[in-house]
Amino acid sequence: MTQIFYTIKDLQNALTSHKAGGQRIGFVPTMGNLHAGHLSLVEITSRHADVVVVSIFVNPTQFGVGEDFDNYPRTLEDDIAKLQQSQCTYVFAPSIEEMYPVYPPNVQVLSGDITKILCGKTRPTHFDGVGLVVGKLFNIVRPDVAVFGKKDYQQLAIIRQLNHELNFGIEIIGGDIVRDTDGLALSSRNGYLTKEERAQAPVIHQTLQALAKQLQVAAFDEFTTLVTQAAQSLNAQGLRVDYLELLTDTLAVPTPKDKQLALLAAIYVGQARLLDNIKINL
Ligand code: AMP
Repeated sequence: MTQIFYTIKDLQNALTSHKAGGQRIGFVPTMGNLHAGHLSLVEITSRHADVVVVSIFVNPTQFGVGEDFDNYPRTLEDDIAKLQQSQCTYVFAPSIEEMYPVYPPNVQVLSGDITKILCGKTRPTHFDGVGLVVGKLFNIVRPDVAVFGKKDYQQLAIIRQLNHELNFGIEIIGGDIVRDTDGLALSSRNGYLTKEERAQAPVIHQTLQALAKQLQVAAFDEFTTLVTQAAQSLNAQGLRVDYLELLTDTLAVPTPKDKQLALLAAIYVGQARLLDNIKINL
């Protein structure tokens, strides 16, 4: 039976006895509106921990001015019902006041150059907000292991950096992207799509797959042209490419020696800005 807590104190009280008994605490931070992608992270966590904590918190500090904070889907009852059927032990669903006793917060977690590429170009303050809230949640839960989805590939890299540089000592695991049957990566923001847009959205993954195939057999000096052509093709189909980039799997600019690459994309389908990525082993 999953239990839900709204305050830090209640959650920590519940966790104390588990920790005293030497049990491993696993943690999955989310913004709710849960789908099979989130639940896959819960399942992965349960294989690495005795107790699984899932947080549900739509974090205001990671949304920029004019972004979708107000409209972001909040479906706590449904989320709890889904988690009751999962391996989740405790849900932590704090209010903004509980998470941010001082708002706006005085303390910042600045995640450096990695926040300035990819999503950081369009959302310059986003990852500082993510770093702050995840840092706070790590301090509140003090997990042994935390699991994040690879759909948010850059976020996962930033969390690994945060964990390392702020000495949290948490085992960080990346969970594979869970997709709908037509290949579209599951996302809470898919709910923003109209019927027509939803029908069109799988072209994102199809384009990444086709481009990955081309890159496998192309010469290094053809890479940039192929990526540009794929972006142009998406734009020509009525989507709007925020970015489509080929980087190394550690998010550096590739050289001809690099064999582990990643194609990373943020694409607007109507109002929804959707992320996807695919790894390439040359
Ligand atoms: P969110 O609620 O969107 O902030 O996501 C919470 C966690 O779920 C993050 O670690 C995401 O990367 C992960 N996640 C979201 N969508 C998927 C998906 N389709 N597959 C795997 N993980 C996902």
